[in-house]
Amino acid sequence: MAQVLVTRTYLPELSEYTELLEGVWHRGQVTNNGPLLQELEDSLVPHHGTDHVLFVGNGTIALQLALRALDITGEVITTPYSYVASTTAILWEHCTPVHVDIDPVTFCIDPARIEAAITPRTQAILATHVYGLPCDVDAIATIARRHGLKVIYDGAHAFGTTHQGRPLLSYGDISTCSFHATKIYHTVEGGSIACHDEETYRKLRLLRAFGHIKDDHFLVGINGKNSELHAAMGVLMLRHMPSILERRKAQWWRYAEALQGCDVQLARVPGDTDYNHAYFPAIMPSEAALHALLEDLAKNDIHPRRYFYPSLTELPYLSARGTCPIAEDLARRALCLPLFHQLDDALIDRIALFVRSHLK
Ligand SMILES: *Cc1c(COP(=O)(O)O)cnc(C)c1O
Repeated sequence: MAQVLVTRTYLPELSEYTELLEGVWHRGQVTNNGPLLQELEDSLVPHHGTDHVLFVGNGTIALQLALRALDITGEVITTPYSYVASTTAILWEHCTPVHVDIDPVTFCIDPARIEAAITPRTQAILATHVYGLPCDVDAIATIARRHGLKVIYDGAHAFGTTHQGRPLLSYGDISTCSFHATKIYHTVEGGSIACHDEETYRKLRLLRAFGHIKDDHFLVGINGKNSELHAAMGVLMLRHMPSILERRKAQWWRYAEALQGCDVQLARVPGDTDYNHAYFPAIMPSEAALHALLEDLAKNDIHPRRYFYPSLTELPYLSARGTCPIAEDLARRALCLPLFHQLDDALIDRIALFVRSHLK
């Protein structure tokens, strides 16, 4: 049997893609705000719940641009349980990440601990909707209002999730998403930034394209743009998303049912949430059990990933290190089981059996 990885990129029929590329070749414009990019940004509006959506180079530059657009220079309270980019974007912008612990059930940042970590230098909260599951957006909004803080959501996993009747990517002052090839919706490389006010939107557009319009220079920008070739993939993938989301849900529940009654912790989808089922985290009872399972699966050429390991509090290059015991413990026991469109039911059942054999 072929190697099974945690994810596999969904690729539409090549002919569908080349059909769109023919238009690009015909027009000769391959980047710099071309018609496919504009079409994609328009089509992304309902998925972000705002007219102000930008398609950018990747999900990391999206975070950097968000911090810049909101003039964040001080402390940013953030989650230790995320992909490394959510903390390194803060460091890259010469801001100070302050990790506070997560809720052991939602896996997202714990609002009560945010409030306890606020200092006079705190300017923003950068929270991740980890695995596409919503943060406690209402509690975070209340804290931010009370203390005059900006809220940035790293929504890299959140495409397709709706919460309280709105796209999850519509919350906060700014929400970002990653459209990397490993994510549920992708443009090969790419990402988005969504905001709500015209001024931030204009600033983001300038920041994305070197800070100038023609010969008028306004601010220090960067190249955060993306191309017509990536936009073409984005336009195409949007057409496939309904069937991807539907299949993903069935796959997710197949795992969940197969693992019911075992001593493994699974994600809990909160009420009022239409979940995108982007990931299937299985929290093993111990790190030893996780290692034993990984070894067993590797012998069968099945390779889940330790998402997210280690806890970002353990990054070696942090100058000040907080301890977040819940995130550190979770990171040691969490495994994301293979989950991608092409994964068939028989293989899901087989993987679930392997997992069960390491559980009580
Ligand atoms: C993938 C990811 C990113 C980075 O996105 P890229 O498009 O790969 O730059 C940021 N944050 C989280 C939580 C991610 O999973």
